[in-house]
Amino acid sequence: MHAVIIDDLEDYLSGYLPPSALDRFQNHLKACGECRLEVEELRETAGMLDALKPQGVIAPPPSFLPLVMNAVSASPAPSFWGFFGDFALGRRVVFASLLTLAVLGTVLVSREHAYAPNPTTPQAVMADASDSPNADQMLVTLANYEP
Ligand SMILES: [Zn+2]
Repeated sequence: MHAVIIDDLEDYLSGYLPPSALDRFQNHLKACGECRLEVEELRETAGMLDALKPQGVIAPPPSFLPLVMNAVSASPAPSFWGFFGDFALGRRVVFASLLTLAVLGTVLVSREHAYAPNPTTPQAVMADASDSPNADQMLVTLANYEP
């Protein structure tokens, strides 16, 4: 099948091809036997599918709605544990979640000293510099300082 047919085939089969494109499409079909044969097969297939469509609107029988409403009201309301599916699986998921929370809480509490706030006063900042070579001398100077 050639590109001129492939590009407009859907619109042609549905009957919405504009007149200028329709002329070009039909002229190619007259000249090309291969495309004519394939388009004819597709048209037959589409016709068979149209034969399967129901005629008119299908309405449910009047007893359909009461049957559905009775089935819905007869089924029990879902419980919270129902979301976990199997009850044993749900218990395991809850236990694993609580265990994870306990481990994370323990880790956070044990590492809390690492997040202590920095000293705020200048004296505390100078005294906190314990890695400086004369930190002891600085502490003595601070302790003896009188403004
Ligand atoms: Zn062709």
